[in-house]
Amino acid sequence: MTSLSDNLNKVHETLPEDVTLVAVSKTKPHEMVQEAYDAGQRVFGENKVQELVGKYEALPKDIEWHLIGHLQTNKVKYIVPFVSLIHAVDSEKLLVEIQKRAQKIDRVQPVLIQLYIAQEESKFGLSQEEALALLDRYDQEDFSHVSIEGMMGMASNSSNQQLVASEFGQLNQFFKEQQALRPYLKTLSMGMSGDYTLAVEQGSNMVRIGSTIFGARNYTK
Ligand SMILES: *Cc1c(COP(=O)(O)O)cnc(C)c1O
Repeated sequence: MTSLSDNLNKVHETLPEDVTLVAVSKTKPHEMVQEAYDAGQRVFGENKVQELVGKYEALPKDIEWHLIGHLQTNKVKYIVPFVSLIHAVDSEKLLVEIQKRAQKIDRVQPVLIQLYIAQEESKFGLSQEEALALLDRYDQEDFSHVSIEGMMGMASNSSNQQLVASEFGQLNQFFKEQQALRPYLKTLSMGMSGDYTLAVEQGSNMVRIGSTIFGARNYTK
């Protein structure tokens, strides 16, 4: 059995230096997060608000916490005081709520917008058309306390590498086109344990990796 720090090192060895590693610790105990922290990891991702808040309160305060999962508007207030990046903004309503809650505590909240790229059924994520409408509104209105810094996407959960690569490639192309018009778009969050190599080849500069570092989860998502 390899240790957690060995796993972390192996992932780092396969990542270009300019790619940020978000260690996805969802469902894993605090001790394992602490172990990864002791090995030098500082950026962690969670997909549930309650679990994220619990870990934030219990673990070292210089951890950068990312919420990578779907966020309901009524839970924004619990994470806006401390979360470093919200990956999955998928509606104007959510963007407006984050602006409102962050303004209340005078914080600027960095976020990514989630694009729907997979062929398979998925409940979450914007189409390119919806993303353009959201970005237009963001550019035109006074979003003083929310900062859109990039895009996030999840490819099909498929062993068809060509399909997965083309989904990542499609998002990268859209990201690059929009980045040329909107230079504030810097981060492209794509890639998980099973597909991050493909994602990096297709332009990702932020990967979200859980099971390769922490081991398989008893339940998923
Ligand atoms: C769970 C999760 C990951 C990490 O998945 P692994 O396959 O364990 O690497 C990445 N992104 C999101 C949005 C997730 O929910």
